[in-house]
Amino acid sequence: MNAIVANLQVVRARIAAAARAAGRDPASVRLLAVSKTWPAAAVHAACEGGQRAFGENYAQEASGKIAALAGLGLEWHFIGPVQGNKTRAIADAFDWVHSVDRLKIAERLAAQRDAHRPPLQVCLQVNIGGEAGKAGVAPEEAAPLARALAALPRLRLRGLMCIPEADGDAALWRGRFACLRQLLQQLTQEGIALDTLSMGMSHDLEAAIAEGATIVRVGTALFGARGKAGTDAS
Ligand SMILES: *Cc1c(COP(=O)(O)O)cnc(C)c1O
Repeated sequence: MNAIVANLQVVRARIAAAARAAGRDPASVRLLAVSKTWPAAAVHAACEGGQRAFGENYAQEASGKIAALAGLGLEWHFIGPVQGNKTRAIADAFDWVHSVDRLKIAERLAAQRDAHRPPLQVCLQVNIGGEAGKAGVAPEEAAPLARALAALPRLRLRGLMCIPEADGDAALWRGRFACLRQLLQQLTQEGIALDTLSMGMSHDLEAAIAEGATIVRVGTALFGARGKAGTDAS
């Protein structure tokens, strides 16, 4: 068994334990393997453990990997900041985008998505802690933005995503995740049908699952510590 498959088993066990502790079905939480900065060979190694959904932050870095692994039936999720000049590459190569926080970007993705493909599955990124300079729509602006997104063609709004402060503790993370869950419930009550809470990473997935995460995005615990973060040439 390769090391990544061994790590997958550990992470799946963590997810299952957290789900059971919360009285949830472990199958209600999907694992997104965040392969940013890692080569196609690492993604391939994870495939050997049955992993099919992968997350990437940089359009340029991802497109080479996606092309190299075409034919394996993988599902690709874009989870990084969406630059305006990368929307076409993202609309072409990805199945999901978790990090939409502006109408203008959503409109470009909708216009550029091939009408013959399934709609792009989209989550709204929310700056749930109101942190200065952080990506994400403010919680009080989420409802109008969600309504506008839900009306766009070729996109399907699925839910909400957040990234709480990395330097917090379990209590802070749970509070943030609970706020995102409540926001999703509020939007659902207002008639916007949503089924996805993308929240929880290597260090805080237990807190996220306790508060209702349906997708956890895990990199380090599967692939190891990243070196220097990759970047998109613009
Ligand atoms: C890198 C990244 C992750 C994975 O983080 P780890 O701490 O390595 O598990 C999850 N979500 C987003 C948006 C990321 O950029």
